Amino acid sequence: MSHDLLNIHSIIPLSKVNGPGNRMVVFFQGCDKNCPGCFNPDTHSFETISLYSPGALFKKYPPNKRIEGITLSGGEPFLQPEGLFELLKTAKENFNLSTVVYTGFTYKEIRQKPECLPCLEFIDVLIDGRYVESKKEPSLLARGSTNQRLYLLSSRYKREDFYMPGKIEVIIGKDGVVTNTGFGKIDIKQAMQIET
Ligand code: SF4
Repeated sequence: MSHDLLNIHSIIPLSKVNGPGNRMVVFFQGCDKNCPGCFNPDTHSFETISLYSPGALFKKYPPNKRIEGITLSGGEPFLQPEGLFELLKTAKENFNLSTVVYTGFTYKEIRQKPECLPCLEFIDVLIDGRYVESKKEPSLLARGSTNQRLYLLSSRYKREDFYMPGKIEVIIGKDGVVTNTGFGKIDIKQAMQIET
């Protein structure tokens, strides 16, 4: 597999609950941290789901004028550092998008990985650290647990831009697939009365 090809779990073309404003959200596939209570366990396996070059990804999901940025989550984006770098660079330079990245690594761990360092230049906000269930965020900032820190790596945003208490979205795709995203919990089946 070419290193600039990204193995992607899923993409939400427009979300209002994954960082400031309207954002495209890209979930990377593959994570080895196994945090108990992880909100997205389907992203853990390293099987190939959908391969995209950054160019192909933006061709399939062109950011419209309503999109102010891209949020990268997972899975673990920094386990695909070359593709991550190209995606961030393309988002900034070709589409003038702001960039928010969630990672299970700490900022310190990332700075110790030479292959990850170039990515930092193109990230506006990094939200770091493993998810710790006992420190679950009481739905205030856009993070899973209170051990995770927001690093404002540029002047683009302020900490309060990430204040989104209990915001969630339920997205029903054209294919009928229902996605629950954001920083709150909802029982989709109960809420939508989906029968199993
Ligand atoms: S680092 Fe993130 S994706 Fe990986 S197991 Fe932990 S919470 Fe889940």
